[in-house]
Amino acid sequence: SDKLSVKQARQAEAIGQQATLQGWVRTRRDSKGGFSFLEINDGSCLSNIQIIVDADLPNYESDVKRLSAGCSISVRGEVKESGGRGQATEMLAKELIVHGWADPESYPLQKKRHSMEKLREWAHLRPRTNTFGAVMRVRNRIGRSIHDFFQERDFLYTHTPIITASDCEGAGEMFRVTTIDPAMPPKDDKGEIDYTQDFFDRPSYLTVSGQLEGEIYATALGKIYTFGPTFRAENSNTSRHLAEFWMVEPEMAFCELTDNMDLAEAFLKRVVADVRQDCEEDLQFFQDRIDDTVHESLANVADKPFERVTYTTAIELLENADAKFEFPVKWGVDLQAEHERYLTEQHFKSPVILYDYPATIKPFYMRVNDEDEQGRRTVRAMDVLVPRVGEIIGGSQREERLEVLEARMAEQSLDPEEYWWYIDLRRYGTVPHSGFGLGLERMVQFVTGMSNIRDVIPFPRTPGNADF
Ligand code: ATP
Ligand code: MG
Ligand code: MG
Ligand code: MG
Repeated sequence: SDKLSVKQARQAEAIGQQATLQGWVRTRRDSKGGFSFLEINDGSCLSNIQIIVDADLPNYESDVKRLSAGCSISVRGEVKESGGRGQATEMLAKELIVHGWADPESYPLQKKRHSMEKLREWAHLRPRTNTFGAVMRVRNRIGRSIHDFFQERDFLYTHTPIITASDCEGAGEMFRVTTIDPAMPPKDDKGEIDYTQDFFDRPSYLTVSGQLEGEIYATALGKIYTFGPTFRAENSNTSRHLAEFWMVEPEMAFCELTDNMDLAEAFLKRVVADVRQDCEEDLQFFQDRIDDTVHESLANVADKPFERVTYTTAIELLENADAKFEFPVKWGVDLQAEHERYLTEQHFKSPVILYDYPATIKPFYMRVNDEDEQGRRTVRAMDVLVPRVGEIIGGSQREERLEVLEARMAEQSLDPEEYWWYIDLRRYGTVPHSGFGLGLERMVQFVTGMSNIRDVIPFPRTPGNADF
């Protein structure tokens, strides 16, 4: 067929071609000289292409003069060199078919710009806006880059389960999965609903992380990654937490924390490089319309080695900072968004990897360090922090020593019987191993400068929002 996307038709090579373009009208302008100018967009790129329609067209009065924003059309014609600014080409229409009208009285996406909040109410229409189209193209490019990065390094793409009984983070943020009929729930002796019979008689949850299952595969097949949806019953309404988000989690056998940090840094640099190379037009849009620090912060990731400091050093920096924090810091507390922003935006002005966190604030599976001179115990955890977004990656070296793992589980009151399979990995051929998790949406936020995580995922799930 002679179909071209708008992106293809905008290239100078298309000049002189007879082609069909299909898309949605953004604007129509009629000139006195018996012409109409249409701008159409088909999502293939940010820009529209201009279509020039001569009043000679048989359906000029009946169709063309009635076109408005949102109408879907096919146009056949010739791609011509354009004299207009910002466009190399335009099309001279020879035939135009209207597929669907969009009543200008009710179609919400007219010229007027809507707020991001308003657009969230129209999850079915917002992909038609410039901003959301650009977000989706960048998100897509990041997804491809993620696979490319790991596949080129021979990581095995492993599918870990969505429904699971293991609470990886131990933070009690899990959604239960149930087959219980609400009309006839099974009851225990006290007459309470017996949730232990949830999923065909076993309690189960939506996964918060594929890590524990990922470790099973890494300790057999070497290097693996999972990439899929994860769920957290976050009841916090922040601009960087969703109840359903996508996470990439590599896991490597024979890998210690430093190699894990190196991989995380190389990974972020690669994804940023790919987006800068292939999404130039969209990035310029974000720079101009959304956040004028986008170019600079991407260049920072690409060009400079990340800062790496221990948690202990970071606490000292924060204690001596001349900034006022809502949550005061002291050794042993988890960092808040305000602290992460201070470190990346004010102190280092660059991405930072923090490592060696207090054992008391981290889950049981992280590799325990020897006590320091002051008797403080840390674990080999690392967080990668970036400006604006804060924590974008969380990872660690995993505890590979059987006795230490068992002691840590006891400390955190975890039942070893529930984790018998996880413990087995330490019983049989244990190895130092490490991995991390990157939240895809936080990455998209960082790259685009979008301030709210709800605006970088097609269907955001937050407390009270799960309709469509
Ligand atoms: P935070 O401290 O921001 O709550 P976390 O430490 O709980 O994050 P991890 O368990 O370390 O998160 O998960 C790994 C990565 O997944 C995070 O670094 C982040 O990029 C992403 N992530 C975690 N929770 C969410 C969420 N609720 N929504 C979106 N992304 C998330
Ligand atoms: Mg969290
Ligand atoms: Mg965190
Ligand atoms: Mg974390």
